[in-house]
Amino acid sequence: MADSALSHVTRAAALSAMAAEPVDLLVIGGGITGAGIARDAALRGIRTAVVDKGDFAAGTSSASSRLIHGGLRYLETGDFRLVFESSRERRVLLGIAPHLVWPLPFLFPVYRGARVPPWKLRAGMWLYDALAAFRNVHGHRWLSAAATRRLEPQLRDRDLRGAALYYDAQTDDARLVLATLRSAAAAGALVANYAEAASLLKPDGRVRGAVVRDAITGEARTVRALVVVNATGPWCDGLRRQDRADAAPLLRLTRGAHVAVPRARIGHSHAVTLTSPLDGRVMFVLPWGDVSYIGTTDIDDPGDPDAVRTTAADVTYLLRSANAYFPNARLTPADVIATWAGLRALVATSPQRTASAVSREHVIEESASGLLTIAGGKLTTYRTMAAELVDRVAARLHDADGRPRAPAPPTDRERLPGGETARPDVLEPALREQGASAETAEHLVRCYGSEAPAVLNRAKRNRVLLGPIAEGRPEIRAEVEHVVEREMAMRLGDVLMRRLHLFWQAGDQGLGAAPPVARKLRELLGWDAEREAAELAAYRGEVARARACLGPAAVAGPPAD
Ligand SMILES: Cc1cc2nc3c(=O)[nH]c(=O)nc-3n(C[C@H](O)[C@H](O)[C@H](O)COP(=O)(O)OP(=O)(O)OC[C@H]3O[C@@H](n4cnc5c(N)ncnc54)[C@H](O)[C@@H]3O)c2cc1C
Repeated sequence: MADSALSHVTRAAALSAMAAEPVDLLVIGGGITGAGIARDAALRGIRTAVVDKGDFAAGTSSASSRLIHGGLRYLETGDFRLVFESSRERRVLLGIAPHLVWPLPFLFPVYRGARVPPWKLRAGMWLYDALAAFRNVHGHRWLSAAATRRLEPQLRDRDLRGAALYYDAQTDDARLVLATLRSAAAAGALVANYAEAASLLKPDGRVRGAVVRDAITGEARTVRALVVVNATGPWCDGLRRQDRADAAPLLRLTRGAHVAVPRARIGHSHAVTLTSPLDGRVMFVLPWGDVSYIGTTDIDDPGDPDAVRTTAADVTYLLRSANAYFPNARLTPADVIATWAGLRALVATSPQRTASAVSREHVIEESASGLLTIAGGKLTTYRTMAAELVDRVAARLHDADGRPRAPAPPTDRERLPGGETARPDVLEPALREQGASAETAEHLVRCYGSEAPAVLNRAKRNRVLLGPIAEGRPEIRAEVEHVVEREMAMRLGDVLMRRLHLFWQAGDQGLGAAPPVARKLRELLGWDAEREAAELAAYRGEVARARACLGPAAVAGPPAD
């Protein structure tokens, strides 16, 4: 096995290698779908390249509700097969990445006159456990109103009849993508971010590769491939039209937005499932350290996937829904620390169906010229989606040159990098002995799992690296080096958003930490002063765009920590 480290050095080598010699498989898109495919294919010994036009996970895969879940909601739409498969995948992912996927208890309170009556919820809960073959982390329990009040005293008391206590799992979506790509790289995949498939190669009418443009240097390379996969999520119809100008849309895009607020403002300890009083949709209030995030909306949005943002109406909907269940919170836009929005790439079916009623199943399409497109699906089911797609790739490669069809690898048992320790929290005392605070030790283990000691070891050589990136926060300076050298962080936003998450959970969205981190990146990545300034401006722009929905005062500056 090759090393799983990804960096600017491996990126340059990967781009050269994929241009120098044809690959078997070119995967376009480095969200969870493309990452899963690259991992499955590389583990089968297929010579694989995977490229993303921006950072890995910068699309939908870092804008999710971060749940690895059976999908209680899908019981209402009768998607039992999806719930069954998702429940199995929840078990698998808890096993292969215990640092990135962890069990989460949920309360689903029931009120007199609610859209989902208690009998229906009871039946649904039983079915949910049954579809998990009664092998969920724990079975559900039914709580009286008094027991519910004891567990979540801030929940609305009026008309409360009780609650279901059940279990799902939460994940770090962006890090799950990175870990999956590192596993792919360890198995030999060529991996590059900021590498756009600018056009498809069709020398004889068949898709034979793509022109890949390096978004950092501007250089364009021709990458030849026996099979090309379009795993570009909400962008996939655009690439399909490059293949065939009159391709009918495969997707219906709906926007899902989240807002994050200080957890103390709501005062909850469990994840809470609720039905919005505004339209009866199922939504969540979810804990994330000292932050809570509320999501999500589900609104048709046929716009440009690059321009998707939370709107003021999304914020109003989310805060009003949460306030109806947590009346003491009285949340207003001024409480919002961060917002994020992504586009669900739902498979287009009847336009008459509401967005929430459209199935979350995926579809695989092969065009007349051989482009394989995979669309729809969920973060939770990415591994099985990948296996199904790579079976098709293996068959195509067999037809192309007679090689044996590579069997499916044990992606359900092969642990992701950092997931080698089944109980990563046991590492925390050793990290504390090496000088990490309790918060830092917990944070390092959550992000890096069994690799956390390696992050801390960097500070052994240079104690300055043990210092916090921002005062009062658990992230330490050593992590900047680590994410550049192990996780291919190429830009300031890559570090502050998808790797360290300050954008989503620090009170100032990482604006205070941005200048010192940019300075460090300048040293590590060889930037000049102009590039450093441009990166800072780009990051500030990113924060401002995410806050535009909160009104002009919020854009000027987020609340202090
Ligand atoms: C609001 C919301 C909440 C969700 N919550 C959950 C949840 O809690 N649990 C769950 O299981 N699922 C959830 N989902 C679904 C899940 O997030 C998606 O199914 C999944 O992230 C899709 O991944 P993807 O790789 O297909 O797409 P993306 O993550 O969007 O990746 C596509 C990638 O393709 C790249 N790309 C586009 N064009 C090109 C090109 N020409 N060249 C190179 N690269 C290109 C993009 O830059 C992008 O990174 C949620 C979805 C949304 C929108």
